[in-house]
Amino acid sequence: MPPAVEGIQHYFRKAARIMDVGERIETLLATPLREVKVQVSIELDTGEIRTFHGYRIQHDNSRGPMKGGLRYHPSITQEECVTLASLMTWKTAVVNLPYGGAKGGIAVDPTQLSLKEMERLTRKYMDQVQDLIGPTRDIAGPDVNTNPQVMAWLMDQYSRFHGHSPAVVTGKPPELYGTRGRDAAAGRGLLYITREILRDTGMPMRGTRFALQGFGNVGSHTAQLLWQDGGVVVAVSDVYGGVHNPQGLDIPGLFEHVKRTGTVTGFSGGQACSNEDVLASDCDVLIPAALGGVLNRNNAAQVRARLVIEGANGPTEPEADEVLEKRGVLVVPDILANAGGVTVSYYEWVQNLQHLSWEEERVNAELERTMKEAYDRVAQLARSRKVTLRTAAYILAIGRVGKATVLRGI
Ligand code: NAD
Repeated sequence: MPPAVEGIQHYFRKAARIMDVGERIETLLATPLREVKVQVSIELDTGEIRTFHGYRIQHDNSRGPMKGGLRYHPSITQEECVTLASLMTWKTAVVNLPYGGAKGGIAVDPTQLSLKEMERLTRKYMDQVQDLIGPTRDIAGPDVNTNPQVMAWLMDQYSRFHGHSPAVVTGKPPELYGTRGRDAAAGRGLLYITREILRDTGMPMRGTRFALQGFGNVGSHTAQLLWQDGGVVVAVSDVYGGVHNPQGLDIPGLFEHVKRTGTVTGFSGGQACSNEDVLASDCDVLIPAALGGVLNRNNAAQVRARLVIEGANGPTEPEADEVLEKRGVLVVPDILANAGGVTVSYYEWVQNLQHLSWEEERVNAELERTMKEAYDRVAQLARSRKVTLRTAAYILAIGRVGKATVLRGI
């Protein structure tokens, strides 16, 4: 089982037991409403027929239509989709969006496909799930290895069956019903959460030292926004390695370098380092923003940061979480810290349903309000129940989903 999957199940169970929801309700909340496995067969450019397995898991719809990304990855499994769908249920509940959770995937290595093959695969997948999803039932979005172009194909294919339906997917290109502000949304949400936790712990943004693992969508936007806010980014890394500078990296210069070379490595404004060095670097705040399971029993004791803010989904394994807690390192959990992405996806859906287009200032202002409100609720719960921020976030989410389930009637 991938580490992130095991962690999500563990954190859910831990909170459910503290809440004393009982075994039957725990099982009800953990069990997806529907698990679908579909055949996705396409003709390759060579004329050869290839068959892939696709999944769509719909976890819970008590608070609204289900929402979750579509991931293309060779090792994706149904079990992984189930857990990631449940993560979406808890995440949307923490930020109080009127959504439930879902997740989809195709077991495919997209680097082996041409653009035309990707399009055929995406459209065929939609053919297989179009009668199960929809703007009021289950809304897809981008995830690992899927992008705005894939979302445009999904929308177009769904619309062939059901008429013009931009609200069936989010993360669409801005020219095709996508929202302003979606690209930076996860990083911007993380910035707003960082401001709150720094205020609570009495640390000023100016001069606080950040280390980030991952310089993709989440990592790069977060680094830029923190730097603009007066933060000092002392280390960053990507899949090829890292770079650090105790005086602070020149972020605009780093962006120029990445634009030219495609990686943060080799940047002349700092010294080369490894991904492990970044996790253990001398900093105040560590932001893992790449992969799941990167903080584990082998390296949790080496973390020197006072705060860990989870940009990635599931970066901290349960054993590492315990070590960090014992050492007094505060961890802001993924279901709160990176919820800015799904929040702005929700704004895209709202705009599509109302045939409106918001200015970016409005998107960012709504996002700030939503993230602050969620942080306040989680922090309050953590204080009153004397639990970690992660357990508090799960308690808040499970409580909201449980209440909606009971009110609707089982
Ligand atoms: P991305 O593909 O844009 O970037 C991933 C980054 O991680 C890249 O810089 C890549 O080089 C780096 N990376 C890959 N393998 C690595 C390795 N072995 N060691 C170190 N770095 C490595 O992805 P993203 O959209 O930025 O997503 C990052 C994480 O955040 C994922 O866990 C994702 O699920 C989560 N997330 C993303 C969003 C969003 O809106 N993009 C929202 C919520 C959560």
